[in-house]
Amino acid sequence: MSSPPDTDFPIAIIGAGFSGIGTAIKLKQAGIESFTIFERASDVGGTWRDNTYPGAACDVPSHAYSLSFEQIPSWSRRFAESGEIHDYLRSITDKWKLREHMRFGTEIVDARFDETTGSWTLTTADNETLTARVVVSCAGGLVNPATPDIKGLQSFTGELFHTARWNHDYDLSGRRVAVIGTGASAVQVVPSIADEVEHLDVYQRTPAWVVPKRDKVYSARYKRWLGRFPALLRVSRFLKYWLSELMGPIVFLDSEWLSSLGKKGSQLHLKAQVKDPELRKKLMPSFQFGCKRILISDDYWSSFERPNVELVTDPIDEIKRTGIQTRDGTFREVDAIIIATGFDLGLASAPFPISGIGGRSLDEAWKDGAVAYKGMSVSGFPNWFILMGPNTGPGHTSVLVYTEAQIAHTVAAIKKLRDEGLRYVNVRQDVQNRYNEGLESRMKYMVWSTGCNSWYLSADGRNHSLYPGYAAEYVLRAQHFRVRDYEIVG
Ligand SMILES: Cc1cc2nc3c(=O)[nH]c(=O)nc-3n(C[C@H](O)[C@H](O)[C@H](O)COP(=O)(O)OP(=O)(O)OC[C@H]3O[C@@H](n4cnc5c(N)ncnc54)[C@H](O)[C@@H]3O)c2cc1C
Repeated sequence: MSSPPDTDFPIAIIGAGFSGIGTAIKLKQAGIESFTIFERASDVGGTWRDNTYPGAACDVPSHAYSLSFEQIPSWSRRFAESGEIHDYLRSITDKWKLREHMRFGTEIVDARFDETTGSWTLTTADNETLTARVVVSCAGGLVNPATPDIKGLQSFTGELFHTARWNHDYDLSGRRVAVIGTGASAVQVVPSIADEVEHLDVYQRTPAWVVPKRDKVYSARYKRWLGRFPALLRVSRFLKYWLSELMGPIVFLDSEWLSSLGKKGSQLHLKAQVKDPELRKKLMPSFQFGCKRILISDDYWSSFERPNVELVTDPIDEIKRTGIQTRDGTFREVDAIIIATGFDLGLASAPFPISGIGGRSLDEAWKDGAVAYKGMSVSGFPNWFILMGPNTGPGHTSVLVYTEAQIAHTVAAIKKLRDEGLRYVNVRQDVQNRYNEGLESRMKYMVWSTGCNSWYLSADGRNHSLYPGYAAEYVLRAQHFRVRDYEIVG
């Protein structure tokens, strides 16, 4: 069967981060050019465009945290900093001439499916309407900064910003600064600014398990070797990936014995970093290793040994005009407050109003929690593929391993639709239900279900964000588009 002309088959990609760029490259490699990438910001990069705070870096080694089909030998260090990852994304965008497919400053705010034509009508924030036969939602899971609900936050008259919206015009040197939160961003920010500020208060609600990062700068000679012998780069990636898979069960399985290995390693790290036993007690978590996100850092814990850094564990009572008051009545005056409380988890709900077959909304379909088939397809929402959707996050390795499997699945579906002139593909409800029942029954063996309160869990205590198992297993299940799982409408 001959393929219809490309322009008859418009494809909309929403978002220009790793997922959107990776999908676009794979579409190009498949000979498909009829796609547009809609990005609400003014540049590519997603996470790595927005998170520019001091110390921002990946916590999976860059040889693994990059696209397998766009490997580069020039990473300057084991865990590249945000700016370098952003440059990488810009350079592959240019290499594949993706900018001519991009529409920056275009936010999609509504999507409706028309069964008769098998197409989606998208509306932008400027009220423009567009038509797409397939939508690939690459809108990200960690994009909207979460602001904590603390009494008086808005009354603060000093400088206030979120780590994901860092104010680079504000000079922290010689200032009294408060960091609220002790999660993944805080462990990077705190040691990076501790030197510069006059005084730093770090407000901790729950301590986190931290393990050594063992970051290092790559020598020029090592990078030359990787450039000259690309097989070495592939070996480096292979080893890093399989090491994380091997260690995976320590991080995701509910096993006292495996958790105790991780816990022991973290406790030794704490002992080496902090001499004061009282301080160590405050920094030591009481929940099972892996239940909340494991953090990696070589210098976070030791920052608290500095005379200008204070760990505050008493809960915040109120933020006042010039500082923060804790429940024990202590008032600490500060010039700036940095919010390091992460993001509103975008996987838990539709990113904007989306209506599928019969006008049913995605929020209605997800009223009991976000579920999808292999995290990508939702029954009743044909020709719509989600990247980084429900239950596709890892606790132990690179997200991009999952993303690449989703891209392969999505591109295969697009080729089928386009090459066979089909109207739509809609995942079967029974297939979706069976898949999610399987995930749910596995969740009880996972460490995230051991009772701690984490951002992995939704309000009802269920985990709609992480995949309960090995990345390799997810890839084997998800990368192929299995026709029998879908209702095919020609
Ligand atoms: C600080 C930080 C560090 C991280 N470190 C790691 C790590 O080390 N390893 C790892 O595996 N993962 C890490 N992650 C997770 C990271 O988000 C993913 O690895 C990956 O970057 C996600 O890429 P994405 O393209 O799916 O989403 P994003 O990078 O979030 O991109 C989504 C894009 O969609 C755009 N968008 C959203 N909604 C709309 C709309 N309605 N219309 C138009 N455009 C829209 C956004 O502006 C954004 O550009 C980290 C996340 C953060 C926040």
